[in-house]
Amino acid sequence: MYFAIFTRDDENSKQIERSCYEQLINNNFIENKEKPDYVICVGGDGTFLRAVQHYFSNISQITFVGIKSGTLGYFCAYESNEIELLVSDLINKSLKIETYPLLKGIIYDHERVVDRIYAVNEIRIENPFKTMICEVLIDEEKLEEFRGNGILVSSTLGSTAYNKSCGGAIIDSKLDLLELTEIAPIENIVYHSLKESLVLSSHRKITIKSPFKEEVVGYDHKLYKLQERITHVTISYSNKKIKLAIKPFIRGLRQSFIIDK
Ligand code: NAP
Ligand code: MN
Repeated sequence: MYFAIFTRDDENSKQIERSCYEQLINNNFIENKEKPDYVICVGGDGTFLRAVQHYFSNISQITFVGIKSGTLGYFCAYESNEIELLVSDLINKSLKIETYPLLKGIIYDHERVVDRIYAVNEIRIENPFKTMICEVLIDEEKLEEFRGNGILVSSTLGSTAYNKSCGGAIIDSKLDLLELTEIAPIENIVYHSLKESLVLSSHRKITIKSPFKEEVVGYDHKLYKLQERITHVTISYSNKKIKLAIKPFIRGLRQSFIIDK
């Protein structure tokens, strides 16, 4: 079984990496940074998100496993003192693994596809400096004209991230849903938009149309700057999937948002 370790750049994480590496090698696992079966992410959620982008070209072959070192680590199934447990779960093939689809954003200049981006948590179009004005369509049907800071489309997995900060609902990780959440919508006697976050079937496609100027597309930890020629962006689930070792959903919620025990 081939493994790679993807580590956040701090001393504590590097120490965990060394210990994990040693234990895996002692148990006849083979390091293969190019084509691993398992990618062990040592750090926090950001480390996992970066590992997904790093190994994107090979994503269907890989199972991601997170070891938490320090920060929130909502995606981390193992604590830093559970390396032995992780190694024995790998040996016994008893990791609890779930498969989740990645979000896909397509950036268009009229009918021409300019770029495709993929994300675990969310894809959002934002302008934090000037009011963003755009049309929001769902499956080609116009929902609203939006004015505000941005529009965020979250996956089930991402519902506890930026989506939650914007007042979006947390979605059970066993459900296959898409969530549309407005970022700071302008609400007054003149302008209205839905405001409440909208939970949609995973088959829906959301289109954001605007004479874009200074808007950016944020996807997970990454940024894509829109130029003026961009006419619209579509967001939906893709057919690309990630495999991730997870901790039970309710326990994860409690440990990340209520009390870390
Ligand atoms: P970051 O600024 O470190 O992320 C913000 C926080 O979100 C961190 O505590 C991170 O955990 C946590 N997080 C990431 N994905 C999560 C998830 N699915 N459920 C619960 N918490 C989650 O930046 P980053 O580590 O590069 O992560 C990128 C993500 O940051 C984006 O996908 C977006 O969701 C989020 N973000 C949030 C806001 C906001 O809430 N206002 C603004 C921008 C971006 P770790 O500490 O373990 O990394
Ligand atoms: Mn982070």
